[in-house]
Amino acid sequence: MVIVLKKGVSPSDKKRIVDFLSEKNFKTNEIPGDEATIIAAVGHLKIDPSDVNLLPGVEKVIPISKGYKMASREFKPENSVVQIGNNLGQMIRVGGQRIVSIAGPCAVENRERMFSIAEAVSKSGACMLRGGAYKPRTSPYSFQGLGEEGVKILKEAGDKFGLPVVTEIIAAEHLPIMEKYGVDVLQIGARNMQNFDLLREVGKSGKAVILKRGLCATIEEWLMSAEYLLSSGSENVILCERGIRTYEKATRNTLDLSAVPVLRSLTHLPVIVDPSHAVGLRDKIAPMALASVASGADGIIVEVHDCPEKALSDGPQALLPSMFDKLMHDIEAMAPVVGKSVVHIRKEINLNSTKKTAEDSSKPVCAYNGIKGTYAEQAVNLYFDGDVSACPCSSFRDVFRAVVNGQADYGMIPIENSLGGSVYDNYDNLASFEDVSIVGALHLRIQHALLAVKGATMHTIKRIYSHPQGFAQCVKLIENYKWEKITASSTANAAKMVADSASKENAAIASVITAKYYNLEILQEDIQDDPRDYTRFVVIAANHVADKPVENKRAIKSSVPNVASFIFCTPNETGALYNALGVFQKNKLNLTRLESRPIAGQPWHYWFYADAELKESALQNEEYVKAFMTDLKKVAEEVRLLGVYSEAGNSI
Ligand code: PEP
Ligand code: MN
Repeated sequence: MVIVLKKGVSPSDKKRIVDFLSEKNFKTNEIPGDEATIIAAVGHLKIDPSDVNLLPGVEKVIPISKGYKMASREFKPENSVVQIGNNLGQMIRVGGQRIVSIAGPCAVENRERMFSIAEAVSKSGACMLRGGAYKPRTSPYSFQGLGEEGVKILKEAGDKFGLPVVTEIIAAEHLPIMEKYGVDVLQIGARNMQNFDLLREVGKSGKAVILKRGLCATIEEWLMSAEYLLSSGSENVILCERGIRTYEKATRNTLDLSAVPVLRSLTHLPVIVDPSHAVGLRDKIAPMALASVASGADGIIVEVHDCPEKALSDGPQALLPSMFDKLMHDIEAMAPVVGKSVVHIRKEINLNSTKKTAEDSSKPVCAYNGIKGTYAEQAVNLYFDGDVSACPCSSFRDVFRAVVNGQADYGMIPIENSLGGSVYDNYDNLASFEDVSIVGALHLRIQHALLAVKGATMHTIKRIYSHPQGFAQCVKLIENYKWEKITASSTANAAKMVADSASKENAAIASVITAKYYNLEILQEDIQDDPRDYTRFVVIAANHVADKPVENKRAIKSSVPNVASFIFCTPNETGALYNALGVFQKNKLNLTRLESRPIAGQPWHYWFYADAELKESALQNEEYVKAFMTDLKKVAEEVRLLGVYSEAGNSI
């Protein structure tokens, strides 16, 4: 049942309500809210809701009518995030704003093969490693898995690459083996989804679980199985859609992708998709993996094998490492479309500890321009997956200053928008703050909304507030209504100005999230001229060490760096820029962005800002960049390497 508490309920009344329910063996979950506080309670005993209704402080009691309680959205309105740590001290979160990719062979076959597949999937960006040691095969004559030895090999391979491991458990008696080797996530396979004793025992272990959907299970039956796990003590349950049996024979099973949005409304649990077992055909897996991301799944789990024709199980559905690599690039490109980014294993984390403004000193501080709700704040949370103390500043220059002064470990800087173009201020800041380097980048999908105070309509509005980029991205709507434009320092500032004015004549162009922060109504959503509206942000840090990108200890090294950024200026002579660009070609660096800016105090002299794509291993890239810098210095002046870093979704 859900118990809605009276506004301003006293702590002692609240405690009495919780104690009353606990005495009757109810599990409770308190959900604080802006409007009202709610207690969700689940128990075996039948109690009369009116007994609860009569307790002081109770506004009303709503029974949870569904068979599953703890798995339901009513019990927990916000999404659950399952956290899985690796041996490098990084937390991988399933269910947040990032997409997880779990990959590996169907079964652990031998040590050598397991390590080579682990290396390949790790290189391509998998953040967890899968591999079955106990295989529930349809035929008793098929390979049944290596058992304990398989678990041991899997975990060793995972540890070598910082990847937590997922393996299937088919019997409760194997729990001690899973414990012994430190398996991070237990998988309950489709065939065991309704093995209730197994669910109960696995639930009691408290380990993170991937619960696959049964071959013929309805969504409700599946959630009832999740309820077994949750009610037995497991808090970390991830649902996995892996296809169901239908009359269709063209694929191994039928992938029920509509289950993803359906589950979103029914449950708070994270949902991942296994397209490998769903379609069973190598060439159909990548498109369905991408469709899974588009459907809102929190991640994918796929089978990868480097020699599928020799695989001991499920060879025909194993992706080749090169196919998995391509899929990971495509997922990177797809993620910003659904407002997410991709989890990467950080090979090395070295955070500066000189910060002064951190509320929580264990988290890195990332400065951004604007106030709460601005797109830059969203980018901060997306990049660090919420594991950050976001620090607002009042200008872009202040963000740079905070980084240089050590008040912030990082700064989040918008550099270019796909509709509005370059953010010139920040190109200039990158040139003038010489102690700053770029350590990362990401693309954020921008979805503007028109926000105004209650009662305002499209026809009461006379003035529109936003950041110049907001105006540049919503030209069609503004021209249509001929509103007067008033510039604000950020979109969130614009929303605040409109809220403070309390006038129905004012509206702001800002994000939907901002509406909630500043108590505004959403008059229209998605008002940008083109839905393909992205802002590229770069993450900056201090102490750039020119020419030595790999020694830049402050950089977050996530996967292999794939971008190098430079600034340089050229002598004022014929062919100077042509010569400089020739250096890119000579060193086989693919130039992906070139921007020029006037140099302050030197009329008609220009800085050039260039991004180049890096395609090789970290070591080879380092060589390339070094050789490039030496050559560029021969033809250009004031050459500076801004950073060598990894950029997600670089293909957009
Ligand atoms: C597996 O993941 O290897 C497996 C057997 O999956 P499922 O239980 O979905 O068939
Ligand atoms: Mn399999």
